[in-house]
Amino acid sequence: MSTRRWSRYVRGRKRRAKLCLPNNAVKVKPSLKKRLRELQGAVPGSEGMDMQTFFQNIQQYILQLEAKVTVLRCLSNLYGLFQSLQEVKLVFGEADSWVWKIGKSQTFSVNSAYVQVRRVRGGEYSPVYSKLWRCKALPSALFTAWRVLENRFASRVNLVRREVAVENLLCCLCGEEEESSCHLFFVCRFAWRVWCLCFKWLGVSSVIHKDPKSNFSQFRMSQASVSVNEVWSTIWVGIVSEIWKHRNSVIFNRGVADVSEVFASVQVKCWYGYPFANLVGVLIGD
Ligand SMILES: [Zn+2]
Repeated sequence: MSTRRWSRYVRGRKRRAKLCLPNNAVKVKPSLKKRLRELQGAVPGSEGMDMQTFFQNIQQYILQLEAKVTVLRCLSNLYGLFQSLQEVKLVFGEADSWVWKIGKSQTFSVNSAYVQVRRVRGGEYSPVYSKLWRCKALPSALFTAWRVLENRFASRVNLVRREVAVENLLCCLCGEEEESSCHLFFVCRFAWRVWCLCFKWLGVSSVIHKDPKSNFSQFRMSQASVSVNEVWSTIWVGIVSEIWKHRNSVIFNRGVADVSEVFASVQVKCWYGYPFANLVGVLIGD
């Protein structure tokens, strides 16, 4: 059945009324016809009116209603703007300036913006991020670690998920399994050897968890002080960021996967790159 569609929607804030009129009223389904007659009976002055005229009138009514809703919405916005302007105190001779209204100091800080975003977005906040942001690692390494924890880095599996064409899904460091976040940093035979070398260097033995957040949160000493555990977290950040950097070097610079090279880079970063190298020395009893 061909149908002729009138102005279909009455826009409202949350609801939309849909109206559809068939071209040939004779072919209207009985159920729809019954409902249309009920509607006609409810509209004063429409008794005896043919269906076509009746719906033309409804169409005009809807258009008028839509225009009124638009006008009311504009008035509402203007009233909100007016209310906001009431709080503004104009001072003659004083130039306009930007004010950061979040926080007591009225000075912009990344922390205040972060807190505000968290407040607006809601949701659960994982405690691993508090530990992560306390690390004294370089910002680039911290950002890499955050992307690993959030699974937002450009691994081959993630690229395919974002519909990016990838020739080969296999991990470039071992060539055995798909390059997912869990694999590249914690399951990969190459990464596992890097972790083992670091554990040996630090004089500890540990289980390597597959889940990034579990791995990070358990990379600590249970009886150690907060500052010492911050060093442990920072070493974790260093290991992860160096594995990622080495993986990129292998892919983009046609490098060779070398465990000892990654381990040496981790040692250098943890020993000289961060501002508390003496604590690393404490960890390994040097
Ligand atoms: Zn691998």
